[in-house]
Amino acid sequence: MLRLNYDEIVEKIVSDKGVTKEEVESKIKVKIDELSDLISKEGAAHIIANQYGIKLFENNAPKDFKISDVPKGVNGLNILGKMVSDFEVREFKTAKRQGRLGVCTVGDETGTLRFVVWDDKTISELNEKVKAGDILKIHDAYSKDNNGFIEIHLGSRGQVAINPEGESIGEVKAEVSRLGFSKMNIVELKEGDRAEVQGTVVQMFEPRFYNACEKCGRKVMVQGTDFVCNTHGNVSSKKFPVVNFFFDDGTSNIRAVCFADVAEKFIGRSGEELGGYKPEELDVLLKGNLGKQFVIKGKASKNSNFDRLELMINSIEEADPSSIMKSMEDAV
Ligand SMILES: [Zn+2]
Repeated sequence: MLRLNYDEIVEKIVSDKGVTKEEVESKIKVKIDELSDLISKEGAAHIIANQYGIKLFENNAPKDFKISDVPKGVNGLNILGKMVSDFEVREFKTAKRQGRLGVCTVGDETGTLRFVVWDDKTISELNEKVKAGDILKIHDAYSKDNNGFIEIHLGSRGQVAINPEGESIGEVKAEVSRLGFSKMNIVELKEGDRAEVQGTVVQMFEPRFYNACEKCGRKVMVQGTDFVCNTHGNVSSKKFPVVNFFFDDGTSNIRAVCFADVAEKFIGRSGEELGGYKPEELDVLLKGNLGKQFVIKGKASKNSNFDRLELMINSIEEADPSSIMKSMEDAV
């Protein structure tokens, strides 16, 4: 069994629980003082991890992950990915060391991310044998946060199998994988937080619409009678809704915003359908979501026009009844 060291334990608590490093370290310090220095830093860190409900020895065997589910700061990741770029070898030189690393982008049905190889033997092998389109079965890699984007790195402990028999990947989703979301209360949200919040829709606003590229969903420019996408050029455009609402989780409320397919899912109608509603029909439709509980994953961002924090929604699911019961029990 692999034993985590002090820094790894602290990092695991921080990434699993979305608390600050300072908070964790101060709790550990208090615990050491409480036990009159009879305990090591690691020992105290284990106790605090237990108090947070984190099982450090749950299972240290590498686990399989879909790309969009890769959390940050985790060891022991297995990933099956298709190379969507060629493998590139780069030299690097810092004050401390120099060497080379190998880089490519891999993807699966859920997203893409950067894959960085540090082991020299593996770099040579991949450089010789692989190109875009090949499938890599990556074993025992670790993840890192690079400016909000998830990367997986492979050190000397990891391995890669090239085009393993019997493994295939469907169409790769071209979206770059970002950091996962942490469960949070609305009251504690700060700008830039990537949060999962559960709460109730307390007010709905009338949808607005924009024209977007049918291929990628991004806003298109209107040039005469043509719609032009930055990526896809002349495209046919679809009418997409933007839906704003107030969301309350009992600790506070926040204005939440969803776009395009996420908004369509939330309302249960396509943008085209919505555009055809009469105001009074629309009113009835929107009211259908009032009082419903949802789980939202999104990013807290500042709306500078109004100097307020808003939750930009990546995904929204109706909360399942058992988890609602659970959160009510917790609250009692
Ligand atoms: Zn496009």
